[in-house]
Amino acid sequence: MEPASPIPSRTQTLRAWKEQGGGIAAVLPIHYPRALLRAFGLLPVEVWGPPRVDPAPGAAHLQPYVCSIVGNALSFLLSGGLDGTDVIIVPHACDSLQGLGSLLLDFVRPRQPVFPLYLPRGRRESDLQFLADECRALYEKLAAITGRAPSEVELMKSIRREEEADGLLAELHRRRRVLPLSDLAFYRLVRAREYLPAEEFAARARAVLDGPPADPRPGVPLLLSGIVPEPMALLDAVAEMGGAVVADDLACSGRRLYPPGTSTDPFRRMAERILNGPPDPTRGSPIAERLRHLVGMARESGARGVVFYDVKFCEPELFDLPLLRRGLQEAGLPSVHIEVDLNDPLSGQTLTRIEAFLEMVAGQPAEEARR
Ligand code: SF4
Repeated sequence: MEPASPIPSRTQTLRAWKEQGGGIAAVLPIHYPRALLRAFGLLPVEVWGPPRVDPAPGAAHLQPYVCSIVGNALSFLLSGGLDGTDVIIVPHACDSLQGLGSLLLDFVRPRQPVFPLYLPRGRRESDLQFLADECRALYEKLAAITGRAPSEVELMKSIRREEEADGLLAELHRRRRVLPLSDLAFYRLVRAREYLPAEEFAARARAVLDGPPADPRPGVPLLLSGIVPEPMALLDAVAEMGGAVVADDLACSGRRLYPPGTSTDPFRRMAERILNGPPDPTRGSPIAERLRHLVGMARESGARGVVFYDVKFCEPELFDLPLLRRGLQEAGLPSVHIEVDLNDPLSGQTLTRIEAFLEMVAGQPAEEARR
């Protein structure tokens, strides 16, 4: 249950892009205008940690209660892991990432230019204008370092390329249960959106979607929420324990199913797409909206329980959890909250908790979950 041709790694993709004369933008989580970077010939390669790096170099600069995504990213940078990149983009998803942006600008000062990107915390017209202006400001900074000035037509072409890739990404999510992919293979494919050029991702997604459907995967249907499914061995472990992930609200994947924009102004359109994405605590979405979204996804996919799989010390996630979990329980959807550090292997404790949760969900009458 793997795609016919193996998906290239981040390193292979980065090397191939550079060999063609392109530049690389290292991008911290979570929301940013991919199309803008591509219009300047920069391939966005996202930095979700990465997992399993020596955390010591970053730890010297950060408080011990900063999450391992930020800690590992800093360690990775200080150990030369981002040496092949030309610019670093730090979206303001949370206080920890904003802190990292300031640290890079004022103290660490890496060789590459560092550009923060501020995200509004609402969806009003003023939020849209603010984010469109942020995209315009980023355009000016990128123009200054690359010497390029993409036209409106080029920007719109770049936006449409990303919209097409995101449409296919959404279709993969919609049809995930009948795709001939294991959960692990599915996440390898959808997470390739974090670094593959949009057109290459689109070709791979289309190849899977155009193939014959498989029988629906068996297993207790689960909705996976949280930040990022690391270590990825988690997904095979869940399948072995009798679970099947049928819906996704992860920051790295399901919360970035951006719909196409409508504006003919490229900057407004980039902003529109991000703000109209699924609810996300890092964009300040109200808890009631998140709850409606999760319950709706569970109803549509048949998910009978929710696994919140978080990175330790993630404040945006922790703020919402008590009310969110209570609301889910009232809607007949049990949940479990698991916290991990990106440097830890998949622990026996995590597996035991998920196994116990699966047993509990499987033993609960299905009507309960449809209440
Ligand atoms: S895991 Fe949470 S705290 Fe860490 S960077 Fe992501 S949103 Fe911020």
